[in-house]
Amino acid sequence: MYKPVIGLEIHAELRTKTKMFCDSLNDPDEKHPNINVCPICMGHPGTLPVANEDAVKKVIMAGLALNCKIEKDTFFERKNYFYPDLPKGYQISQYQKPLCYGGWLDIETRDKRQETGKKKIKITRIHLEEDAGRLYHLPNKDYSLVDFNRAGVPLMELVTEPDLESGEEVRKFAEELRLILRYLGVSDADMEKGQMRVEVNISLRDKEQETSNKFGIKVEIKNINSIKFAADAVDYEIKRQTELLEAGEKVKQETRGWDEQKGATFSQRSKEEAQDYRYFPEPDLPPLLIRDKRQAAKGEPRQGRETRDQGIFIDEITALIPELPQQRRERFARQYSLPEKDIDLFTTDKTLGDYFEHVASELLSFDKLDHLKRPEPKHQQKLFKLASNYIITELKRMAEEVYAEPADTKISPEMMADLVVRIFHGEVSSSGAQTALKEMFATGASPGKVIEEKDLAQLSNIGDLEMAVSKVIADNPKAIGDFKKGSEAPIKFLIGAVMRETKGKANPQIVEQIIKRKLKI
Ligand code: ADP
Ligand code: MG
Repeated sequence: MYKPVIGLEIHAELRTKTKMFCDSLNDPDEKHPNINVCPICMGHPGTLPVANEDAVKKVIMAGLALNCKIEKDTFFERKNYFYPDLPKGYQISQYQKPLCYGGWLDIETRDKRQETGKKKIKITRIHLEEDAGRLYHLPNKDYSLVDFNRAGVPLMELVTEPDLESGEEVRKFAEELRLILRYLGVSDADMEKGQMRVEVNISLRDKEQETSNKFGIKVEIKNINSIKFAADAVDYEIKRQTELLEAGEKVKQETRGWDEQKGATFSQRSKEEAQDYRYFPEPDLPPLLIRDKRQAAKGEPRQGRETRDQGIFIDEITALIPELPQQRRERFARQYSLPEKDIDLFTTDKTLGDYFEHVASELLSFDKLDHLKRPEPKHQQKLFKLASNYIITELKRMAEEVYAEPADTKISPEMMADLVVRIFHGEVSSSGAQTALKEMFATGASPGKVIEEKDLAQLSNIGDLEMAVSKVIADNPKAIGDFKKGSEAPIKFLIGAVMRETKGKANPQIVEQIIKRKLKI
């Protein structure tokens, strides 16, 4: 038996206004090639880079959110190689001293050995570098095109320890990281657009070797453009390597690509000897000094360096970190007791979750709902669940049909809360509520008005309902006969008949009670 050993290298383009070392725009949506370029990102001789402070802060913010330590005394280095998408002939990166190191991210796992249901994936490092340009290889042409809009765009690279063990875990890690980067506003992290790139390193080892530190030969999979493909590539590669080893063959150390059509990895190049990038400290950029504001205020000098304030303070960045996805999940569970499925959706689709919270706060404060009978506090949970259901199943679908966010539709959170309270009181049935929502969505009219104008109010008046039930019993002697012979089925039939008699407005629970009373059950 073999056990998979997997480590990830993930690149994410940072969402900044300008590029990493110049003031050319960082615009991932620019369609025209070679628009956002200047002598600096084109690597002209005699130009000097200036580090983008916002990019440095964003990487530190990501590092803090991922439980990393922050390197307080760091610098950029040159990584030398030749490729047509790299005008300078070297990439400015970080090597010896990454900005962030020694962190972790918890992922949900189905691994039975993990009692908590969580697994810690250690993060080795996160460093800051610049992206390269983009090459276009055209079919049947003897040349390629290059677009330098992306050259010099700030890029963070995160490297994990080889702690992952399956395609599923890779998917969980990549999804949670993407969500965190989006919550932080650090990156849009869209893999289809190449804003996030996941490279998978994978090897197998003997189950017996598990406790030793011996790893098998690893394969690196590159050029994967969705999280699902990353997980699929891992599952494929586990199978391929297992078959090789079981046949007594060796795994070749190489870089492989992912073929979406075939659902298979394929060999790209062998990687027998490590490339020598001749790293050395970038002489055109000053070192980065990162401190706490408090420490700086005290004027504590740093050993062997001039104390130069670069305006990058860890405590200031910490203060900017918003609620993170996992904190939000825990808070939603605590505050609203919603099912996990609802909470997951409200965390992944943050604007939908924000809309829900707005409705929930209306339900709690009741300021604008004073015209309605106030439900008792013990029913809060039921109200939250009702609100969640109508937002997830009805509002989300209606909004998606017109490509809108729920918050931008005509159904304000106040109106939604108003409707939810009416549903709770049985003033309107669930089918009536759906009709009401459609009308509210189209016209922006209040639930009260819509229910009245469309005559959607549930019939709960006992006298009226008793009359309807008596009529239905009188009209259906056969059903009553069947019932007397011991069949329960006629009850459902009679409820249905009353619903038809009242044009769907009867409250079915009350109708059932009346029928049972009249038939003396
Ligand atoms: P390289 O020198 O080939 O770049 P690194 O040690 O820098 O290798 O690791 C790169 C990535 O590969 C990391 O995510 C690390 O966790 C992972 N990794 C290292 N060794 C193995 C292995 N034997 N099997 C699977 N992943 C590995
Ligand atoms: Mg490496």
